Amino acid sequence: MEWLYWVEHAVMSLLLAALVRLAMTEGWQGVLRAVLVVLRYIPGVGEVINWVIRRMAVQFAPQLTGAQQDGSKKDRKPPRVVLPKKGQSYDAIVQEMKKLQKEKDTDPHAGKMFAYVYTLEDDASKVQKEAVDMFMEQTGLGDDHDRFVREIYQSFIHTNVLNPFVFPALRRFEIETVSMVASFLHGDDQVVGSLTSGGTESILMAVKSYRDRARKLFPQITQPEMVAPITIHPAFEKAASYFCVKMVHVPVGPDFRADVKAMEQAITGNTILLCASAPQYCHGIVDPIPDVSALALRRKLPLHVDACFGGFMLPWVEKLGYPVPTFDFRNPGVTSISADIHKYGYGVKGASVILYKSTDFWRYQLFSYSGWPGGIFGSCSMAGSRPGGNIAAAWAVLKAMGEDGYMKTAQEVMETTEFMINNIRNIPGLCILGEPHMTAFAIGSRGVNILALADEMESKGWRMERTQNPNGIHCSIMPSHTKVREKFIEDLTAAAEYVKIHNKSSEEGASMAYGLAGQVPDKALVDDFIKEIYMEFYTKC
Ligand SMILES: *Cc1c(COP(=O)(O)O)cnc(C)c1O
Repeated sequence: MEWLYWVEHAVMSLLLAALVRLAMTEGWQGVLRAVLVVLRYIPGVGEVINWVIRRMAVQFAPQLTGAQQDGSKKDRKPPRVVLPKKGQSYDAIVQEMKKLQKEKDTDPHAGKMFAYVYTLEDDASKVQKEAVDMFMEQTGLGDDHDRFVREIYQSFIHTNVLNPFVFPALRRFEIETVSMVASFLHGDDQVVGSLTSGGTESILMAVKSYRDRARKLFPQITQPEMVAPITIHPAFEKAASYFCVKMVHVPVGPDFRADVKAMEQAITGNTILLCASAPQYCHGIVDPIPDVSALALRRKLPLHVDACFGGFMLPWVEKLGYPVPTFDFRNPGVTSISADIHKYGYGVKGASVILYKSTDFWRYQLFSYSGWPGGIFGSCSMAGSRPGGNIAAAWAVLKAMGEDGYMKTAQEVMETTEFMINNIRNIPGLCILGEPHMTAFAIGSRGVNILALADEMESKGWRMERTQNPNGIHCSIMPSHTKVREKFIEDLTAAAEYVKIHNKSSEEGASMAYGLAGQVPDKALVDDFIKEIYMEFYTKC
């Protein structure tokens, strides 16, 4: 693009010439302010300024990172780093990481940094390390995978990803993790994003980005709204309340999937975002994403797919041959996806990915502030100081699992899920709510009091997750359930019979709370109540 180059240089030269002239008479400060104020009133100039700023950033970034970037957006290629087909050996991964860390990052113990890390003197940390090793040896805690993750995590416990230029190895782990996830969610090399502390932060970031995008592109919208099925995760409600976006819930159909017609009817001139789940947590059911995607394209709205739960499971379930609705970037209307590494990615807690189709969306996630006496400040996500341990562990776990590792685990967990679902469907008085798509389901009632059933199961030592509207028991199936699946069905069968025969109702604890909550018509009261309970929990031992 020869002419773009010249336009850019002409604009830059003009700007510079004007600034220099004025500076000679007025001084830099006043001039800059005046010029920027004037420029903003000229239509279209704001865009040019932004464009120039972007070009400058594109040119400047390699100086800081050593990476080669051309900033062009022409042909979309596959992501640069993909999930390895075959999981790699723990040894090779540790070698590669240690090498990168040694080459690129400053040793947090070396006393060379004056921010970001707070470590004890080396002697003290050696003592700690020995203590941890001894503890591991004595307790025999964790299998190989666990030990591997622990070791990686441990060697990064003092790193801080607050400033991406201080720990280049970690920045690389983050970029490559995003790229690997993009690769199996069918994104291309334009897909960009961040690692966050969890699904909630990923969702908060997405909603904030779309709000800021709307502020920029549609300034006439003063009260932004987003449309989502009622089964969407509460993190969206949290985002709505944090970022002043109105949440417009629509009901789901009898199949517990988003009612796309209802979503369309809920769109107003204030709508800035559509949301759907793959799958929703409640019943493990994927919304009809292709239809929502078509709706998003038709109404020119962005669409966030919450694959926090399924992002690391559905791709493998689909490859195993189970029917899975197309939920990822293969849908042209999908503009962002959240996927949790700390769920079926088998990473350590505190790791999730938020992916955007391109920087056109991700740019609105970024925060910068140049006026602080402490330095020029920039940040990608909610956190200031960001722990590097879970980012390093996330990268390492993806590499170690590989596609084959995820496929193998998915197959096992799917088999256990099918075993449970088939058996539960045969228990008199119980059913499965809807047709779950992956390794989670909710048990519903065909006559048995579900809340009493949950109580009864808890008296047998199981820990139950209650769901509501309609009442149910949620089960996410993990690899650890394979060895107890027969026992679970046995106990559930006995408990269902017991509750039915004794006509039990829910009397105590969580079930009583759910029972009461269901009967209080004013939900604001219930909400106040929940907050009170929290205040209670956190002020008393
Ligand atoms: C777990 C989950 C979230 C939230 O993730 P956290 O890591 O708990 O913050 C969001 N959406 C769905 C569907 C989930 O299952």
